[in-house]
Amino acid sequence: MKKFKRILVANRGEIAIRVFRACKELGIRSVAIYSNEDRTSLFRTKADESYLVGKNKGPVEAYLGIDEIIGLALKKGVDAIHPGYGFLSENAEFARKCAEAGIVFIGPTGDMIDNLGDKIKSKIVAKNANVPTIPGVEKPIKSDEEAKEFAAFCGYPVMIKAAAGGGGRGMRIVTKEEELLEAFHSAQSEAKKAFGIDDIFIEKYLEKPKHIEVQILGDTHGNIVHLYERDCSIQRRHQKLIEFTPAVSLTQKKREQICQDALKIAKAVDYCNAGTVEFLVDKNGNHYFIEMNPRIQVEHTVTEMVTGYDIVQSQILVAQGYSLDSPEVGIASQADIKPRGFAIQCRVTTEDPSNNFAPDTGKIDVYRTGSGFGIRLDGGNGFTGSVISPYYDSLLVKVTAQSRTFEDTIRKAIRSIKELSVAGVKTNTGFLINVLNREEFHKGLCDTHFIADNPSLFD
Ligand code: ADP
Repeated sequence: MKKFKRILVANRGEIAIRVFRACKELGIRSVAIYSNEDRTSLFRTKADESYLVGKNKGPVEAYLGIDEIIGLALKKGVDAIHPGYGFLSENAEFARKCAEAGIVFIGPTGDMIDNLGDKIKSKIVAKNANVPTIPGVEKPIKSDEEAKEFAAFCGYPVMIKAAAGGGGRGMRIVTKEEELLEAFHSAQSEAKKAFGIDDIFIEKYLEKPKHIEVQILGDTHGNIVHLYERDCSIQRRHQKLIEFTPAVSLTQKKREQICQDALKIAKAVDYCNAGTVEFLVDKNGNHYFIEMNPRIQVEHTVTEMVTGYDIVQSQILVAQGYSLDSPEVGIASQADIKPRGFAIQCRVTTEDPSNNFAPDTGKIDVYRTGSGFGIRLDGGNGFTGSVISPYYDSLLVKVTAQSRTFEDTIRKAIRSIKELSVAGVKTNTGFLINVLNREEFHKGLCDTHFIADNPSLFD
């Protein structure tokens, strides 16, 4: 057991603040890093100490400087690094180099990240664990001929995907062979640019599925549990916008099957720390594994609200060697996890819905939030006078509502978002409210195409 005294968070914005808070509550000192661009950002003031990184680097590259960040951590006597999501969170080399430097990486091991962060490798893990996967070819396409052959094998329409993909990048839907090669080449170059790896594979494209994912938590003693599912079907261009739990459309039997399949995959690789196993559920109710994210996710809040477990604190505790059944983590067995009620998270972004959701930037003149009973706010850089920069993701605040019934929870979310007052930059609040007000949403009927199929949501 290694007790942490200081944790460095290799991230920014809301997730950095989320981790600093967990550290404070655990009595651990928190260390922030920030780029030149972020010198006036809120998050660095929430840590006990903060240091500039990437002085001569770009705003994003500053957070990707593996050697500099580890060097700083060593200099400052840091015991562990939390990577948050995005940036270095799924970088196996970073996890390995932390370990080599004697610093604990708060997440799975580098080898696990290698195996699970790669969508081809993780599909093979799932198949071997007898978990259903989307029909496809689990190897990288090496040539135009192979692309044609694999696509024909899957049967059009097909989905072209980057093995290293994330955030919806490197993905293309292809409905006929004439479109195939262009889509393949553009996915390849997008993947190369975004992830530095251009391995592309092909699988069957599912028409209008739901996206259901399962939160997993494992310790270093071989104990693994799931914390039930989230429905993340409300997406724009494959990016999640509203997430909730429980997935109201699932039967209890289906929920149990999906959670058990998620556990099978996690157990197959002896998973440790927090992770998410993602599935698509088709119109006939069949579920298929799509990928595993070996890190904390943006939408972990909804799971925390209904289970009462602090997933970020649990990550930090298991990284120190605590077992799930220790009094500190408090999960003696799977049966201990009893979700209560409903939770919905809405991602408020600084995007302009009237201009095709183009990110809006500039100074926030007014920022007032709507908290109150049943509302949790995880803010990034929102305060009166703050500046929203064009260099980072446009998430302003996550509004998470929780209540006894789904209807009550929707009403609370709408109330809080309506109370939110932001001037100076445009936000997507009107759009979020339009979705929350739709009958299909109330009935749990929305699939991943809901937004694209309903242009009136933009009014
Ligand atoms: P990323 O890692 O970029 O988020 P995912 O593999 O998790 O990519 O997929 C993101 C979203 O893309 C899914 O939630 C779903 O909406 C859509 N998607 C992915 N694969 C398929 C598929 N084979 N058929 C239909 N939709 C898919």
